[in-house]
Amino acid sequence: MEMAYTIIVLLFGFVLGSFFNVVGLRIPIKGSILRPPSHCIHCKRKLTVLDLIPVLSYVFLGGKCRSCGQKISGIYPLMELITGILFALAYWKLGFSAEFFVALVLISLLVIIVVSDFAYMLIPDKILLFFLPLLIIGRLISPLSPWWDSIVGAVVGFCILYSIAALSKGGMGGGDIKLFFLLGLVLGTIHTLLTLFVSAVIGMIVGIVVLKVRGQGRKTPIPFGPSIALAAIVVYFYGDALMNWYFECW
Ligand SMILES: [Zn+2]
Repeated sequence: MEMAYTIIVLLFGFVLGSFFNVVGLRIPIKGSILRPPSHCIHCKRKLTVLDLIPVLSYVFLGGKCRSCGQKISGIYPLMELITGILFALAYWKLGFSAEFFVALVLISLLVIIVVSDFAYMLIPDKILLFFLPLLIIGRLISPLSPWWDSIVGAVVGFCILYSIAALSKGGMGGGDIKLFFLLGLVLGTIHTLLTLFVSAVIGMIVGIVVLKVRGQGRKTPIPFGPSIALAAIVVYFYGDALMNWYFECW
């Protein structure tokens, strides 16, 4: 039965992941989620059910549009796959509990942010505002211990990011600052600080790799959202293990 539930949760994640792609791509440009229907960005052909099966369509179509043969970005099926896997991981670690709800909301928020930040270098307020009450409800039904660690975490996360942004004069977007308020609610103080640390490390590695690949010349800014998202997920699921490991090394 466990196996059956895991598969259901995984499929549910694939389908929602596909929806999150649409949300992440359309909300920042003030588009409607429902209109126009999904279409190929090259030939404008309306996508049919066959094109829209999460993950599988991309694999069967070889990553190309069925009519014009233009390449479809691999990021969309990747986000569907990641959503499914993270949903399954959440079920596997938490079961059908109140905390499972918190995990699903957190994963959903982060996937949408990654899509939007990749596409537009933007974390829209609209998305943060939509998820804020959901996360508050989540922390009311599944509080941290102590419960006020959510509030302290949110304030600390916001203030530190705000200070970094003020000191670096534009090195950090306003979306990143507000996102850390939401993360603080979910993660509490210590794990929020750990997320900041891990995201800085990831961001640095990504920066070095991108610099190597693109060459020194171009200074295209790299979105920081995906690094934060990855760090937050790792810390949410493995924060304590990570800290134990880190302190044992000393
Ligand atoms: Zn096409």
